[in-house]
Amino acid sequence: MCFLCLFVADLGVLSRAMAKAKIVILGGGFAGLFTALEIAGAADVTLVSDSDHFLFTPMLYEYLSGEVEEWHIAPRYKELLEDNVRTVQSSATAIDLKSQTISLANQQTLNYDVLVLAIGGITNYVGVEGAKEFSKPFRKLEHADNLRALMVAALDRIPPDMPALDVRRELTFAVVGAGASGCELSTKMADLLYDAFHRRALQGEPRVLVIEMSDRIVPGMGDQIRVIVEDALRQSHVEVHTETRVVKVTPDGITFEQEGSQESLKTAAVVWTGGVKMNPVIEHLDVEKSPRGLLMVQPTLQLSQQVNVFALGDIAFYPDASPTLAGTAQLAFQQASLAGNNIKAYLEGREMKTRHFEELGEALSLGTERAAVLTAGKAFGGALARQARFALYTSRLPTWHHRLRVGASWFFEGTTPRPLLPLGLER
Ligand SMILES: Cc1cc2nc3c(=O)[nH]c(=O)nc-3n(C[C@H](O)[C@H](O)[C@H](O)COP(=O)(O)OP(=O)(O)OC[C@H]3O[C@@H](n4cnc5c(N)ncnc54)[C@H](O)[C@@H]3O)c2cc1C
Repeated sequence: MCFLCLFVADLGVLSRAMAKAKIVILGGGFAGLFTALEIAGAADVTLVSDSDHFLFTPMLYEYLSGEVEEWHIAPRYKELLEDNVRTVQSSATAIDLKSQTISLANQQTLNYDVLVLAIGGITNYVGVEGAKEFSKPFRKLEHADNLRALMVAALDRIPPDMPALDVRRELTFAVVGAGASGCELSTKMADLLYDAFHRRALQGEPRVLVIEMSDRIVPGMGDQIRVIVEDALRQSHVEVHTETRVVKVTPDGITFEQEGSQESLKTAAVVWTGGVKMNPVIEHLDVEKSPRGLLMVQPTLQLSQQVNVFALGDIAFYPDASPTLAGTAQLAFQQASLAGNNIKAYLEGREMKTRHFEELGEALSLGTERAAVLTAGKAFGGALARQARFALYTSRLPTWHHRLRVGASWFFEGTTPRPLLPLGLER
């Protein structure tokens, strides 16, 4: 046989072996879904997620306010992935790295040749009394739906003749954590509530507080963007409490400590954006971890002892990434492209790559009319930043097809918020 024929025959054997290799991706968020899109068709790929859709979390605030719709930011996997990726909707309950098997809540067991760990983090209530039981998380679509329903129910309880002081007490909402998420959420909630007050001709005003332990809001961000966020919080009438520690959450209130003295407030809801912690499935893995419990990964995104296991996104500690990138979608989605390349290289026996991850800038939604954008070292705010954020995020959505559909919808149908109408009129 000629040399070229041997080469082509070898390639055929290799691609058949690759096609048979079983790759299981756990998690279908920024890290997992974008990895699946990278390696679709290169092997026998299965994506396991506890939900049936991807979620573009940076726009969950706009979903709360009705500026965007569910299909824009939470497309079903079956719309994004072709037949060359199998999807299993179930929760991974245990990972056995020795036998290379995954146990799922639906009693299924999956074997893998290559495993991608991308199940993200969960809300961290940092042991505050009552926080887990009584405060509301804000990480998923249903959390936004619940919060909107709570705001509507609280407004519906207020008769038009209720005195302003009583109204303020009944309509107090506290957001815990003034990182980007807390500032975005509190301004969005305040704008929606003020708008509803106006429409319903209620007396007085609602009260939205954002409570932060450190001495400043958006602690991980630079001063340029902080100034814009502070201004937006003022314009949305959000009360900012820095150097304040939440000590207790009850079914209808919050207690916090400021300069050594404690204060308790009645609240219509407390929303917790205070932090992220390890997923329990990862906590149980006996592999090298960072002091915060994140999986230590090699520059190739492989675990050091298990070369057929890749970890990325919020559960992985990548030593070369700047601390401001840690725990962000922009890191997860850049890692997905590296993971996709390296998984294919691993299967083909090629050399794997490493990559320096870039800071792609910041974009914060601030209330229903404004945003803040930091790009190429320059920050700007206001309505223009809101438009820029929509344009930027159109380009970050998964798949060209979805981007085009959503971009057209935002362009032609607009992104006007949906007011908090009385329950019977809400949809
Ligand atoms: C409200 C909000 C706003 C945010 N805004 C921004 C922003 O503006 N910019 C930014 O860069 N970052 C932002 N982030 C952070 C960003 O969402 C995360 O860094 C990013 O999603 C991490 O990607 P990931 O794939 O690691 O995890 P995730 O996106 O959380 O995905 C994890 C996936 O795993 C699934 N899963 C979890 N447990 C299991 C299990 N046991 N079995 C199977 N599946 C499981 C989940 O359902 C999910 O699909 C925001 C986060 C939130 C919550």
